Amino acid sequence: MEDCIFCKIRVGEIPSTKLYEDEDFMIIKDINPVAKIHLIAIPNEHYATLEMQTEEGARVLGKILNKIGDLADGLGLENGYRLVINQGEDAGQTVHHLHIHIMGGEKLKNM
Ligand code: AMP
Ligand code: ZN
Repeated sequence: MEDCIFCKIRVGEIPSTKLYEDEDFMIIKDINPVAKIHLIAIPNEHYATLEMQTEEGARVLGKILNKIGDLADGLGLENGYRLVINQGEDAGQTVHHLHIHIMGGEKLKNM
């Protein structure tokens, strides 16, 4: 997708700190962290929002959740973490390429 920051990060046009990458998704450090550890899991496929997901997209989302569980300790999230998807305007979504925020590394404020 043209002009999509995350698509550009995926192909290396915009630099990032990639902590994990496979054929379906990557995990990078958020450039503007709101927690001691703030990462973003980004599917390779460009879907703007959840309702635009295909069955294949849903498979990848499931895989991401599973993999986050596997990787958590190695990412410094052994005490727990919070996952967030900002969907649409009311949630303040700023990058319109579906992604999952991963936050932790400290005691997070109650929601
Ligand atoms: P959202 O508001 O849910 O759309 O989240 C977009 C996130 O992407 C924000 O937390 C931004 O800080 C983050 N972000 C934007 N540009 C970059 C970038 N070049 N590298 C890493 N994270 C970014
Ligand atoms: Zn994209």
